[in-house]
Amino acid sequence: MPVVRGAVAIAKGMGVTFREMLSPTKVENYPDGPGPTRGAVLEERYRGAHVLQRDENGLEKCVACFLCAAACPANCIYIEAAENTEEQRISSSERYAKVYNIDYNRCIFWGFSVEACPKDAITHGYNFELSVYNRGDLVKRKDDLLITKQVQSKKYRVAFSDEDVDSEYKEV
Ligand code: SF4
Repeated sequence: MPVVRGAVAIAKGMGVTFREMLSPTKVENYPDGPGPTRGAVLEERYRGAHVLQRDENGLEKCVACFLCAAACPANCIYIEAAENTEEQRISSSERYAKVYNIDYNRCIFWGFSVEACPKDAITHGYNFELSVYNRGDLVKRKDDLLITKQVQSKKYRVAFSDEDVDSEYKEV
């Protein structure tokens, strides 16, 4: 009986293989397509490199509550908080993230930080070309992560409503 069961399992597995072999091949236009994802076709829920969001007034949504850093199982988020002043307002709340780093040497894109954020300040974008020659370059800083400093694919705009994307959003 085990031999028969094994043969049936192999036949089932090979059935899947042959079905896939005969189905039409999908060709993605990567890396020759236009835009930051260069023709790659990504699902709407794709979790790419993170994006720090701004609100409708252009202020940073992050209020330096550290919940994302606490939720991250890889301990890859580093934040330093600072107080907003009347002269210099960075976020709408009392505090803002003076330093916000994500270490992509450690990040495993689980999305826990995104889920933990009470302000929708950190989200996943669609950018995935993160390869570098120097490990230090995988530590992305606030300036790399802010929505106004990134170029995202058009599909990203579909996944987020217009009010989540500020006017300086760059579309390619
Ligand atoms: S990104 Fe969100 S969870 Fe993380 S510190 Fe900022 S407001 Fe808090």
